[in-house]
Amino acid sequence: MKIAICASEVVPFAKTGGLADVAGALPLELEKAGEDVIITLPKYKAIQDSKFKIKRVNEDISYSVIGKDIKVYFIENDKYYNRDNLYMDKKGDYPDNLERFSYYCKRTLELLKEINFKADIIHLHDWQASLIPVYLKTLYSGDLFFKDTKTVITIHNIGYQGIFPKEEFPKLGLSWDIFNMEMLEFYGKINLLKGGIVFSDFITTVSPTYSKEIQTKEFGFGLEGILSQRKDRLSGILNGLDYSIWNPETDKFIAKNFSARNIEDKYKNKKDLQEICHLPLKDDVPVIGIVSRLAEQKGFDILAEAIDKICQLDLQLVILGTGELKYHVLLEKIVKKYPRVISLSLKFDDVLAHKIYAGVDIFLMPSKYEPCGLGQLISLRYATIPIVFKTGGLADTVNSDNGFVFERYNKEDLVKTIKKAIQAFKNKGKWTILMQNAMQCNFSWQESAAKYIALYEKAIKG
Ligand code: ADP
Repeated sequence: MKIAICASEVVPFAKTGGLADVAGALPLELEKAGEDVIITLPKYKAIQDSKFKIKRVNEDISYSVIGKDIKVYFIENDKYYNRDNLYMDKKGDYPDNLERFSYYCKRTLELLKEINFKADIIHLHDWQASLIPVYLKTLYSGDLFFKDTKTVITIHNIGYQGIFPKEEFPKLGLSWDIFNMEMLEFYGKINLLKGGIVFSDFITTVSPTYSKEIQTKEFGFGLEGILSQRKDRLSGILNGLDYSIWNPETDKFIAKNFSARNIEDKYKNKKDLQEICHLPLKDDVPVIGIVSRLAEQKGFDILAEAIDKICQLDLQLVILGTGELKYHVLLEKIVKKYPRVISLSLKFDDVLAHKIYAGVDIFLMPSKYEPCGLGQLISLRYATIPIVFKTGGLADTVNSDNGFVFERYNKEDLVKTIKKAIQAFKNKGKWTILMQNAMQCNFSWQESAAKYIALYEKAIKG
């Protein structure tokens, strides 16, 4: 199959979140499976020619190569993309984002024609690329070049939809006929993601449970109706984890490598972490880790309410994260009260993150909603037992065989579940089984890519 992946951020070129990881990792697996893949991406200021061995196609198109032979085409436009950030600056979202990303979508379609890449599938991601299927089914509907092209959109977080004032509609170059409630209109405004959902042939999200949740009022951010209408075209495919980076057998950042065969070596990492974090060197007390954005979505509202109680339990807590100021303030206060229980690092630190995943016994991730989630997948690979709220990708990957799950989102159930985990930790035999089960879980990109390929084939068959 010929597959064009279209995303506004792709690892290793540009990244603000999980979308970039998916858009960088999935093509590599598709190529390994024998598919013919290209990627298109705006050329932001940070994408330097010398760093990525960029070659020129014509005046406004260049490319680099990832994997064996995947061409990553950069769409250049200094006015739109030669800026320090991808979507926003200190003042907020760039005011011309509608123009910037509609240009990206249109230029992508023209590019496919210029390089004669007759895509069987265009796999587009999030609101930034959502106009691609809209243009295909309107402006390009009579274009024979795209006669057999099918589209798949992946929604990474429905909280971000690309909403713009109605007055900007003429900039899209589309007929007002499609500015209606069934198509691009959303409460009197333009909603680009809605356009992507309505006009794509198939829709995916990053976990099966999240694909169901976004059809409800609680999680749909206003798009639940349109998603329910298209539920026969909607499915969830879990993101994979890059096991070449997250592997306790080869991880260069951790004190002692370990595997399922010599799981006791994990405890050398626990000791190392306790030393680094200036916590008492106790091996019979469970250490709980958090590596996260400090935000309400990640469960910090109930965690803030429960933290005092949690610190009085027989445990140690290692927290690494940055985010909302109110949580920084609260956590700094609690560390002063319980200095021998909590270690707090308010920063982004990849090396420390590796040490935490390897060194703690339990990983706490009580997200209120979680499209897929990476933290729990990493923990499982490091024999670190996750405690999660039953939502989205957390519900799809953690269960009583490999972790602890609570089903009502409140501080009481959170504390109760932590107590249950501490209790289980004291039973060495039971805990070892949990750790073995965790390490055996396989959330590789290979598995996810196979599911995407099956979906592409379904789309092509119609
Ligand atoms: P989200 O993308 O919503 O923030 P995920 O669980 O999908 O949440 O992914 C977050 C990733 O970022 C994980 O790999 C986690 O380890 C990492 N991370 C989050 N905060 C930090 C931090 N302060 N330092 C290092 N890594 C972090």
